[in-house]
Amino acid sequence: MKAFALVSPGNFGWTEIPDDPPPGPDEVVVRPTACGICASDVHYWLHGRIGTQVIENYPFVLGHECAGVVVELGEGVTNVTVGQRVAVEPAIPCGRCAPCTEGRQNICPNVRFLATPPYHGALRQSILIPAGNVEPIPESVSFETAALCEPFGVGIHAARLADVSPDETVAIFGAGAIGLSTAMAARIRGAARIILVEPIKERRSLAEAMGFETIPIDPDPVERIRQMTDGGVHTAFEAAGDLRAMSWVTAAPRLGGKSVIIGIPTEDTVPLDIHRVRRAELTIYNSRRSNRTLPEALHLLDGPAADIARMCTHRFPVSEAGRAFGTVSRREDGVVRAMLMFD
Ligand SMILES: [Zn+2]
Ligand SMILES: [Zn+2]
Repeated sequence: MKAFALVSPGNFGWTEIPDDPPPGPDEVVVRPTACGICASDVHYWLHGRIGTQVIENYPFVLGHECAGVVVELGEGVTNVTVGQRVAVEPAIPCGRCAPCTEGRQNICPNVRFLATPPYHGALRQSILIPAGNVEPIPESVSFETAALCEPFGVGIHAARLADVSPDETVAIFGAGAIGLSTAMAARIRGAARIILVEPIKERRSLAEAMGFETIPIDPDPVERIRQMTDGGVHTAFEAAGDLRAMSWVTAAPRLGGKSVIIGIPTEDTVPLDIHRVRRAELTIYNSRRSNRTLPEALHLLDGPAADIARMCTHRFPVSEAGRAFGTVSRREDGVVRAMLMFD
């Protein structure tokens, strides 16, 4: 089949990849219609790897935040019909390992995840996937908004993992798609005050339009947060994937507070102010992707989280993926989520 793939490190092009087999029992074939560009896709595009996950074989197909139309059903599929609009859950966990049986499929060591080597992503004519990985899209929700369910699910999972509770104060470093998604999830959980820290003016404007407080990164955002919240927030989230945010996330919580790391840094190790962390007896969470959040994300998008649709700031035809990736990697033009649209 045709795919729009990385044909060599850093270079996109149309290419042929082997066809999938016909759908087996409880599998469906989805024709993608919209696919968001995630920071993880940009890491693979620029570096060919994220930590120890390395693209060994080219061409390699990126994209895991996708929605589309069901075009074929395997035997026994009852949750969707041919022609149905669906959002796609990109993680296919093994279902048998200890984390899977403990309900933590997102840390399954055997997981197959779209666009994580060696598994191709969504920028191709069709995707063969278990029927349990697709969820019908409500009529009022567009394909590109439905594709935002994946990053929104990451925010829902992070807020749930840290058990953000009503009346908590929250700071989030980074107002990209993951930061805004986390802010929305924290609001839905009842957080009293949500402050996003973000250097890019357009992103702060979007966060404010969605009803959140924002501050820039200069002067010292931690000092500012402490003043605004009487000594620090209950919970701080790192959603930028950069080293400064990694240090701020353990500096911003109040004594006994919580720090949550969501972002993916380019570096393999990051500094930790251990004396601050131990004196304040902080709880540090690492939040990994999302855990079966797709139905909830779609449901919320059709109601209290409808503003998530505003994160889709740019649309490009798939054939212009190279230009789209450039815009995203340079964080140009106020981009939050750029969506690749199929004809
Ligand atoms: Zn993503
Ligand atoms: Zn597993």
